[in-house]
Amino acid sequence: MGKIDGFLLFDRELPESRNPVKRIKDYKEIYKDFPAKKTVTQASRCMDCGVPFCMSGCPLENNIPEFNDAVYNEDWTLAVDILKETNNFPEFTGRICPAPCEGSCVLGINKPQITIEHIEKTIAEKAYELGLMKADPPLKRTGKKVAVIGSGPAGLATADQLNKSGHTVEVFERDSHVGGLLRFGIPDFKLEKWVVERRVNIMKEEGVVFHTNSHVGKNVDGNKLANNFDALVLCGGSTVPRDLPIPGRELNGVHFAMEFLTRQNKVVSGEKVNDFISAEGKNIIVIGGGDTGSDCVGTSNRHKAKSVTQIELLPTPPTSRTIENPWPEWPMILRSSSSHEEGCTREWSIITEEFIADDKGNVKAIKITEIEWYSENGQRKFKKIEGSTRELPCDLAFLAMGFLYPEKEGVLAQLGIDTNERGNVDDANYKTNVDKIFTAGDMRRGQSLVVWAIREGREAAKEVDAYLTQM
Ligand SMILES: Cc1cc2nc3c(=O)[nH]c(=O)nc-3n(C[C@H](O)[C@H](O)[C@H](O)COP(=O)(O)OP(=O)(O)OC[C@H]3O[C@@H](n4cnc5c(N)ncnc54)[C@H](O)[C@@H]3O)c2cc1C
Repeated sequence: MGKIDGFLLFDRELPESRNPVKRIKDYKEIYKDFPAKKTVTQASRCMDCGVPFCMSGCPLENNIPEFNDAVYNEDWTLAVDILKETNNFPEFTGRICPAPCEGSCVLGINKPQITIEHIEKTIAEKAYELGLMKADPPLKRTGKKVAVIGSGPAGLATADQLNKSGHTVEVFERDSHVGGLLRFGIPDFKLEKWVVERRVNIMKEEGVVFHTNSHVGKNVDGNKLANNFDALVLCGGSTVPRDLPIPGRELNGVHFAMEFLTRQNKVVSGEKVNDFISAEGKNIIVIGGGDTGSDCVGTSNRHKAKSVTQIELLPTPPTSRTIENPWPEWPMILRSSSSHEEGCTREWSIITEEFIADDKGNVKAIKITEIEWYSENGQRKFKKIEGSTRELPCDLAFLAMGFLYPEKEGVLAQLGIDTNERGNVDDANYKTNVDKIFTAGDMRRGQSLVVWAIREGREAAKEVDAYLTQM
């Protein structure tokens, strides 16, 4: 442990974000630079507690106290080595992870937690700066071939681990670029795409082969892949969005969030886009209070929307932990993202009744009703509040209510892959019902987080490696 009283001497400090009025004029990351020296001070706040709950809070079980200590001692090489042991892509998680580790930080019991996520980002960027994050191809190849289908964080982590074990890995991606939601879901103001490309280039140098515009089950035959490779790993994500089948759903201007976000990410990358959805000068309603909804808010503000309102069915979360949600559980509290800071009205306990049309078939308003939540026999229920129905002007509505499960048609149907009662790919230890076909990420787990996708990829790779080694 570095500084014994760091947590008593120093306050939590994070990089400042750029002025919201200015930053909505571009799609660049929102944070200003933060001198590494300040990160060293932040790392010194780590108490190196006897039981590091932060590690069990992290799906990757990152060795947080050890890397904090290395950062405090300014031994960046050691910090990078420690982080690389558990996390294939700290430059992603250091930017966009909601940081469950911080929710479990022991210091967080009565003081602001360690800035673990930012320390992780600093280590990752130092690694690139010092030439420590570079191609390190395996010395020997096993002669075994693996096809990974889908190039989101789960597919990338699977490919990275299996390639490092010496297997020959080819990744098949239906989109024009590699990265899954890192590339086409999460906006650039949270994760600039050069960060993804920089990593993908290292993986290419290490021998991973990427095939883009390769839709397995459509223009690439899944059965041929199964014949040509020793193992397949399905990492296609959870892509079927939850719909809102209410009157007026079919109107022009009512879109799934991903229709909006994907097109915008492509434009930022300089790709040509048909049917671009512009929020400029419009009244925007975002339905759904999560990450995807918040990304629609940030993007709408960058388009210069006239107004942005985000509505959510659930009640407003508490501002601090309740007695039922004690430390070290993930704090279920009200969070405001950088996108909310940029301007947005948020309404909670709202049910959407109807999309209302103008005379040309475009949405012009939504009808909403306030609801009241209550408990009955341990179950949470809601009832509408009489007389609370009203209309909000709405020229564009984005449905951001989460994702149900992976697409059943295409690769899953072609390969005869079973799904479970939740609609996700059924598995036993990442192995599907079909011989030599494995699965990982949101496709297996359901809609989740980047950090979980990386963990899934690592775990699936272990199973695939064991399977290939026994062959
Ligand atoms: C808008 C949005 C914002 C988010 N923000 C955050 C955040 O800030 N932090 C966070 O931790 N998580 C966030 N998430 C969640 C996170 O992005 C996902 O949990 C994670 O990307 C899942 O990784 P994955 O590899 O399983 O799937 P995905 O990232 O969905 O990747 C699946 C890939 O498989 C490809 N594919 C599918 N089928 C085929 C096929 N048949 N052939 C070839 N390719 C195929 C897809 O094109 C895609 O590229 C966000 C999600 C969304 C939608």
